[in-house]
Amino acid sequence: MKAPVNHIIDSSFIDGPGNRTVIFFQGCNFNCKYCHNPETINLCIHCGQCVPGCPEGALELVDGKVEWDEKKCVDCGACYKNCPYSATPRVKESTVEEVMERLKGNMPFIRGITVSGGECSLQRDFIVELFREAKKLGLGTLMDSNGGLPIAFDKELMEVTDGVMLDIKGTDKGFHLELTGRSNDIVLNNAVELARLRKLTEIRTVVLSDNPCSRQTVVNAGNILEPFLKDSKVTYRLIKFRPIGVRGEAEHWMMPSQGQMEELKSLVEDKGFDKVIIT
Ligand code: SF4
Ligand code: SF4
Repeated sequence: MKAPVNHIIDSSFIDGPGNRTVIFFQGCNFNCKYCHNPETINLCIHCGQCVPGCPEGALELVDGKVEWDEKKCVDCGACYKNCPYSATPRVKESTVEEVMERLKGNMPFIRGITVSGGECSLQRDFIVELFREAKKLGLGTLMDSNGGLPIAFDKELMEVTDGVMLDIKGTDKGFHLELTGRSNDIVLNNAVELARLRKLTEIRTVVLSDNPCSRQTVVNAGNILEPFLKDSKVTYRLIKFRPIGVRGEAEHWMMPSQGQMEELKSLVEDKGFDKVIIT
């Protein structure tokens, strides 16, 4: 079984508890206006447009497919920053065995793995197999997900997943649709079910400056989850929107002030979250 892997970070302290290896898959089912890594949204269609722009000759069109030479690549970003399809040629179709080899090289310095993206749940079958193998090594398993697929209701997936860090981008249907291109029905069902199953590790909301829907999202997320938070350890991470790496209209959006963030934090501090963090 293979999955498109954008990149792997061998050691991270910010993608779940402890030191973890993080696997970033290529491809996403959302198209968020504020996406900081828009080149991870789609799979490359091998149009070849980026090939001549590579200053290192790391890209080549062979039999209608763009091949990437990792050894020559200096990560200048020219190919993916200019891709008109929100894709990148720098993706490896990897097997579970190949990813496990990499993980074994990181033992005993890591305590777990986190799958991210793009949207990791699009690689559901791969993740089930990967998590099974990781658990044989005693590693913890976390998903970092937009919740657009019904992951919490997938028994087999939940059996091998220790926890999920879930985005709640908007609780208002129209706002979520406008922001991501997708409905939030499944996201909110996932949030409740994951909390009920004690699989919810963290929720995250990107806060937009002076946007009433951001405020409403934080308040509603707190209210929706409050009944399930007793004796649990769920972090609510409030993330300041930053206009870095974004496209289109989001390039002109303002960053919220620390005062706005603190005010939102105060609205949910008594809901029962383990921590409410501003980042
Ligand atoms: S990021 Fe790598 S492959 Fe892409 S243009 Fe730069 S050197 Fe070439
Ligand atoms: S990365 Fe984008 S520009 Fe380059 S070949 Fe793929 S689709 Fe075309």
